[in-house]
Amino acid sequence: MKIGEAPNELMKIVEITGRHNKWRTTETLNLIPSENVMSPLAEAVYFTDMMHRYAEGKPRKRYYQGLPYVDEIEELAMDLMSRLFKVKFVDLRPVSGTVANAATFRVLAPPGGKAVVAPVQAGAHVSHTKFGTLGALGIKHIEMPFDRENMNVDVDKASKLIEEVKPDFIVMGGSLYLFPHPLKELAEVAHSVGAKVVYDAAHVLGLIAGKRWRDPFDAGADVVTSSTHKTFPGPQGGVILSNNEEVFKEISRTVFPWFVSNHHLHRLPATAVTALEMIYFGEQYADQIIRNARAFAEALHEEGLDVVGEHLGFTRSHQVVLNVRKYGGGAKIAQLLEEANIIVNKNLLPEDPPEAVKDPSGIRTGVQEMTRYGMKEDDFREIARFFRKVIVDKKDPKEVAKEVSEFRKEFMKIHYTFDVDVDKIPSLYKIPYIVL
Ligand SMILES: *Cc1c(COP(=O)(O)O)cnc(C)c1O
Repeated sequence: MKIGEAPNELMKIVEITGRHNKWRTTETLNLIPSENVMSPLAEAVYFTDMMHRYAEGKPRKRYYQGLPYVDEIEELAMDLMSRLFKVKFVDLRPVSGTVANAATFRVLAPPGGKAVVAPVQAGAHVSHTKFGTLGALGIKHIEMPFDRENMNVDVDKASKLIEEVKPDFIVMGGSLYLFPHPLKELAEVAHSVGAKVVYDAAHVLGLIAGKRWRDPFDAGADVVTSSTHKTFPGPQGGVILSNNEEVFKEISRTVFPWFVSNHHLHRLPATAVTALEMIYFGEQYADQIIRNARAFAEALHEEGLDVVGEHLGFTRSHQVVLNVRKYGGGAKIAQLLEEANIIVNKNLLPEDPPEAVKDPSGIRTGVQEMTRYGMKEDDFREIARFFRKVIVDKKDPKEVAKEVSEFRKEFMKIHYTFDVDVDKIPSLYKIPYIVL
């Protein structure tokens, strides 16, 4: 059958997928802080037969046959993660960060137990709240007080709260995350009342890998949960790390069979490749992210935009956040930027009431993906000019879109990976890259 003779829907599927690929990987600037791209090397080992297979349980203790190579790869991936994060125990089976949190929280507190978590205003993720995973598990959600001046947890008040409440565990780490949470200070208090400490590194795992963010274990975390696809530029997935054998074993027994049966095996070789890339290039990569975020924030400020956290130096992470209320709010500006081929997301700012979620004051950006495509400080200064044209000068976003795509063409190659000929890797399943 010629492709023209196939059902219309087939062409449509191919065409829509191709359009997405072309637009998002060659024409737009992606500044969503929770996303990234894998290297061609990681992709080459991602599209494999492993995506079709089942493997319940742990390596060499499976409920299925046919898995000797999967066992080997999973062990290797765990070893590399363990080396990278200098941690004893690794579980790569959670299929997302939320699932990693669910398994961890379930073990650290029974239903009816108590968790003291970083405030939503300081960036806590929905899974840390009664509206998300904590709520689903029936664990009581108690929020640490927020210090508006420092845009962070109020350490003194939070310490008192933890001493009073004596929770089963505390959670720190967040999604709108410009400045590190006071993990060390509060871990000490938590341990003094017998509470465990969870650090959710979803956004900053790549910065930790590159030693540009404090090692959460040094600061007292008992368990680190994370996604593997934000600043850590691997396939979408989750991970749990710990040095506490007893706690880890119990969490691991909970991952399967409570929260995951099959763990999407094609993630494993791609995660292993990414861990290896971070072992070799992680420091350069994280260093450039930090420089780019700072340069981007300063440039946006110089272009006349209201960058959040000015008095605190704007940012210490990969994120830069803008208050765009006076230009019509986050929803409107995110839409205009999308029309200009710049992809960001609208976000609640600390001063917004919770009911403003549909039209918050902020937009949240992250520099990690464009850094991976090789962008440096000057390139982010150029991006800041695009922002000004759209937001302040109110230029036609369609016109700016053309300039953006032209600029984007210079950055097609993924950096911070091994310079090997990927086409030589025999890949069984490589979805053709369709450019229409
Ligand atoms: C993204 C995120 C998660 C959830 O990760 P998924 O992989 O999307 O389930 C958990 N915690 C924080 C802080 C996050 O930002």
